[in-house]
Amino acid sequence: MIVIMRIGCTQDAITRVRNRIEDAGLRVYIPHGVERTVIGVVGESFPGLRDALESLPGVDQVIPVSKPYKLASREFHPEDTIVEVNGVVIGGDEIVVMAGPCAVESEEQLLVTARAVKEAGASILRGGAYKPRTSPYAFRGLGANGLRLLAEVGHKTQMPVVTEVMSPDDVDLVAQYADMLQIGSRNMQNYVLLDEVGRTRKPVLLKRGMSANMSEWLLAAEYLLAQGNEKVVLCERGIRTFEDYARNTLDINAIPIIEKVSHLPIIADPSHATGKWYLVTPVALAAVAAGADGLLIEVHPDPDLALADGPQSLTFENFRLLMSQLLPLAEARNRSIATQRVRIKP
Ligand code: PEP
Ligand code: MN
Repeated sequence: MIVIMRIGCTQDAITRVRNRIEDAGLRVYIPHGVERTVIGVVGESFPGLRDALESLPGVDQVIPVSKPYKLASREFHPEDTIVEVNGVVIGGDEIVVMAGPCAVESEEQLLVTARAVKEAGASILRGGAYKPRTSPYAFRGLGANGLRLLAEVGHKTQMPVVTEVMSPDDVDLVAQYADMLQIGSRNMQNYVLLDEVGRTRKPVLLKRGMSANMSEWLLAAEYLLAQGNEKVVLCERGIRTFEDYARNTLDINAIPIIEKVSHLPIIADPSHATGKWYLVTPVALAAVAAGADGLLIEVHPDPDLALADGPQSLTFENFRLLMSQLLPLAEARNRSIATQRVRIKP
């Protein structure tokens, strides 16, 4: 339920509405950056509350939100949400490209990759320190050392960094080093992790669970928003279908659907969606044509030697080619490509 206050209503009237909602055992959420004061009622509403709120002074209308997700819905927040990651703006007029290796392997590997992707036009450096691997015998990341390398290389190359956090216990540590916290596909419904990441005020990249529908995905975002973290970016990374030629199937529908039903920015990850490097560029272009706000791309100096996801990683040359093909598609959507103009604090 959303309570829309009259323009120019008093602070007193807002407080009365707030108290009435809280007395009913529900929580209040007031989004920033909206013209009129709107008050979100967080929690399960009950018959009678709508009438009670509607009769309070200063209240213009009370609108029930029909969707199971509330704070993530367009009904609740009609304007697009813009998420800023250390100077890089996601969800605005510019397409933001995040690129880097699947896993941080060494300082040298990360640094050369960061320089190459930045040079080609990427704005955010990606790299996994904690890797969710299907096999327990596969390389599972450098952990805390990987985080330190990410922060160091991010600083050296003046790029904000995004990295995955897998466990609620690691959230504080990862948040110390990263500019954006990634919640991976396998953890999209790890509600304890969502709560913990929601309590930070760090930007979050929430990947779609490989078997999650739109509603489940947006309810996962709702966990983050309900904790007061408004800086949520969604990432379509492919879903499981009967097709097994590619690793997953990028659900291109998800991009315009999210744009319609939610105010949150959405980017696409054609690397995990396809699993094959030669499919990455065409699928990336399709995602931008469909309206994606950005891309997440795996790039490695020598994909044949990568410790994780080599077959889907682009070489520097192939990443440059992708970037050179992106601009006309962005322009067709009246957008441009974000360029690096970030100043990272020491
Ligand atoms: C990744 O980005 O490296 C990753 C593991 O992605 P996903 O959670 O989409 O599989
Ligand atoms: Mn990967």
